[in-house]
Amino acid sequence: MELKVENMFDLPRPLVIAGPCSAETEQQVLHTACELSKFGVKVFRAGVWKPRTMPGHFEGVGSVGLSWLRRVACKTGMAVMTEVANAHHVEACLEAGIHGLWIGARTTSNPFAVQEIADALRGTDVALLVKNPVSPELALWIGALERLQRAGIGRLAAVHRGFPSYADTQFRNMPHWDIPIELRRRCPELPLLCDPSHMGGRRELITTLCQQAMDLGADGLMVECHCHPERAWSDARQQITPEQLQQILKNLVIRSPQQGLMDIDLLRKQIDECDEQIMELLAKRMDLSREIGVYKKKNNMTVLQTDRYQQMLTQRVGLGHSLQLDDALVEHLFALIHEESVRRQMEYFANGQ
Ligand code: PEP
Ligand code: MN
Repeated sequence: MELKVENMFDLPRPLVIAGPCSAETEQQVLHTACELSKFGVKVFRAGVWKPRTMPGHFEGVGSVGLSWLRRVACKTGMAVMTEVANAHHVEACLEAGIHGLWIGARTTSNPFAVQEIADALRGTDVALLVKNPVSPELALWIGALERLQRAGIGRLAAVHRGFPSYADTQFRNMPHWDIPIELRRRCPELPLLCDPSHMGGRRELITTLCQQAMDLGADGLMVECHCHPERAWSDARQQITPEQLQQILKNLVIRSPQQGLMDIDLLRKQIDECDEQIMELLAKRMDLSREIGVYKKKNNMTVLQTDRYQQMLTQRVGLGHSLQLDDALVEHLFALIHEESVRRQMEYFANGQ
């Protein structure tokens, strides 16, 4: 039986979407899909139009791949999804009866393309996933989601796939977990999935990233799976076999935001008290800094005292170190506090308030 589109987001958590980076041949698509379906995966993905960073790489089989996806749906009952980057792709998918679409990272970065897709989807009830843009810019991600929401697209979800960086890291795309955490804070109702494949870029990282996503309360995973990953026509290093996915899912610890409420409430109360103390001390520190401002103005001293600022930062980082606090955190925190002191003293110099 074919899965109803409207059920896709109602499947038990985590929602697992799996399939190859690219649809390559009908046989590869069907073989991978049947294996995944056998292991309980209910939503199948395969890209038919591939937005490649470099020209000359495999750019997808095009709309013929949609008929292979339809065969997957008929044969296995899975919901099927593919990536769209323009109105033409959307129309072809709607005509072919594809259940779900996703907007890739490169496309989310382009508001004109997102608007075109939103307009093409107006009045339909297809499920739509929006990957994070390539730049670590939450506003661009939320902006894309809002464009789609304004076009009346109700079945929306976000996919966190990480952000490229020039820094030499173990990841293909840096997680920057703070960005999806902030997205969740601002849009608590929006389902949020993680794509460990494009984040890790290497199969060895998939297990850890899947678990980290669950630890942070992600609603689902989109994982690239191929029946012969090493022979894949795109993203060969990051794809895993359906069997490997089954193993990962079997070992995954699914956490609930609701468990152990009694203990967590007690701890949270203590955290609230700590934060209150921090804020009271911060207010006291600002008062002292104001007194210093008065002194500086009276004695015709500059607001910025670079030597003192440097000494203060070095001392605080050293102290933080002995308290097992991260150097970068302490430096960042005191740079912010100092910036605010300077801002207030400048204001006092200008207005005498
Ligand atoms: C993909 O999912 O195959 C893909 C191209 O992803 P992204 O847009 O995250 O690079
Ligand atoms: Mn890919």
